[in-house]
Amino acid sequence: MICSPRARRITLSVRGSGEVRLTYPPGVSRERAWQFYLEKQPWVERALQRLAQREAIAPRKECTPEEVEILRRAAKLDLPPRIERLARETGLRYAKVSIRAARTKWGSCSATNSISLSLFLMALPEHLRDFVILHELCHTVHHDHSPRFHALLDRLCGGQERALQRELRNYRIG
Ligand SMILES: [Zn+2]
Repeated sequence: MICSPRARRITLSVRGSGEVRLTYPPGVSRERAWQFYLEKQPWVERALQRLAQREAIAPRKECTPEEVEILRRAAKLDLPPRIERLARETGLRYAKVSIRAARTKWGSCSATNSISLSLFLMALPEHLRDFVILHELCHTVHHDHSPRFHALLDRLCGGQERALQRELRNYRIG
């Protein structure tokens, strides 16, 4: 609770760190500011809840080397059969797949259709893992992000490309 000479009115904010800040101008009593806080309490609780959810989805901390090894082992078991299945289902062909500890991209596809997948895909729910792999498989046909590429990807994920892309943005790699 901060009394600030620069404040024009009572403001309440929830920071990314979870800190709740109540600021009020000198003309307002502490009691009034407190009253304001109590009125807004449900909003504060919702904001904190949202923050906690976001943290659960995209934890801030980076994986430790041990966690990376666990993900790597899981990725080696999960990703090759997964891309194999998706390729079979869609009829798209890739040359080979490799698994890397990439932290900048979920996946990539070379000019010769070698697909590289980040082992951090294992931290995603399965449907998003599939979505990233489908994205890379579509690059074996269109090596760009042209409208034709997006049309193909959208068709292969049942018209859900935008929604899935939005969902994927909630996650950070690594
Ligand atoms: Zn792409």
